[in-house]
Amino acid sequence: MSQSLSNEQLIGIANEYGTPVYVYHAEKITEQYQKLQQAFKQSNAKIFYASKALTNINILKHIRSLGCNIDCSSVNEIHLAIRAGFEPASILYTSNGIAFSEIEEAVSLGVNVNIDSLSNLEKFGKKFGHSYPVGIRLRPNIMAGGNLKISTGHEKSKFGIPIEQIDKILALVQENNLFICGLHVHTGSEIKDVSVFMQVADIFFELAPHFPELSYLDLGGGFKVPYQEGETGTDVSLLGEKVAGVLNKLKETYKRDFEAWFEPGKFLVSEAGYFITEVNVLKQSGSIIFAGVNSGFNHLIRPMFYEAYHRIQNISNPNAPTQLYTITGNICETDTFASDRALNEVREGDRLVFYNAGAYGFEMGSNYNARFKPAQVLVSKGKSHLIGRRDIFEDLLRNQVEVL
Ligand SMILES: *Cc1c(COP(=O)(O)O)cnc(C)c1O
Repeated sequence: MSQSLSNEQLIGIANEYGTPVYVYHAEKITEQYQKLQQAFKQSNAKIFYASKALTNINILKHIRSLGCNIDCSSVNEIHLAIRAGFEPASILYTSNGIAFSEIEEAVSLGVNVNIDSLSNLEKFGKKFGHSYPVGIRLRPNIMAGGNLKISTGHEKSKFGIPIEQIDKILALVQENNLFICGLHVHTGSEIKDVSVFMQVADIFFELAPHFPELSYLDLGGGFKVPYQEGETGTDVSLLGEKVAGVLNKLKETYKRDFEAWFEPGKFLVSEAGYFITEVNVLKQSGSIIFAGVNSGFNHLIRPMFYEAYHRIQNISNPNAPTQLYTITGNICETDTFASDRALNEVREGDRLVFYNAGAYGFEMGSNYNARFKPAQVLVSKGKSHLIGRRDIFEDLLRNQVEVL
């Protein structure tokens, strides 16, 4: 049975902690991790949680307690991971466009590193030679993912070293006697089509003989989760089967073992998150009814940023007849969350909950309009815990230097 929080639980949390509030459900994260473990049982793939989706230290600790590894996109995320108790060996740093000094810091911390530019690869070679194993992030020129803004593998994308520069990579490896232990490709987010991962596996297959010390093939993250009712996500069981097949074929062909690595963010935490808001105002304009909530893209930017769909429900009036509403926020900028959504009749003061709010929700939040960032609550074993307090006025001034 799928783990979820009931309307009653969510209302209780809204009453206790106020709104807007992000709520995370530990058991749902566990369930998602177990799905991956099940799916990759045969292939024994290693899972690295892409922590940029949600970095609250309690979430990181929970994920660590499951035995999961962690993928970081900044050196600060590495420090958070260490703080949460991850061992360096279970931390992966897949960055892009970063200063070499961050890579040096990652090496001094002893974590796994994937490098995504020729220039940093060269610096790495000059400094570390063969002394520290390193992975290479490639850009395979594959178009995949939910939309252009979240696609990272296509030929105009900044991510990874373009695959057509393989000769340059090989020259650098040779010149500097680099210890290449992994190849990495992350094609984007919300990839439903398992064949995209298989296209990447084909590329690895061809490249493997060039890298005799290769031990892992990192296929990135980007598993799709259902957002709309009736939608399905990436079939991870099918993916698991295919990956096991690829690894067997690699072993037969090259007579050695390879590991498959994955870096899911959304898959682990998206559905575990709920964002509860309260309706400030109702406004009728022609045929449109605006339901203005006490939030905006300062708290949940995904709809405005990449037209993400979030299912929304009125949990305060769940049995009333439905009507179409356009749900907007309270900041001085267009911040439409959804247009023409059928909701149970909305009254001012009702609580609207946004689903799939665990990944890239709070994490992408800001203090725009000098508004407070929401509180964060974790529900674990049926109990709720405040894991991030709502901002207070002093937080807005905390880093400002008053000189006048
Ligand atoms: C963002 C990112 C991920 C996670 O993507 P999801 O869509 O959340 O699964 C994985 N790997 C890398 C390198 C990323 O940048």
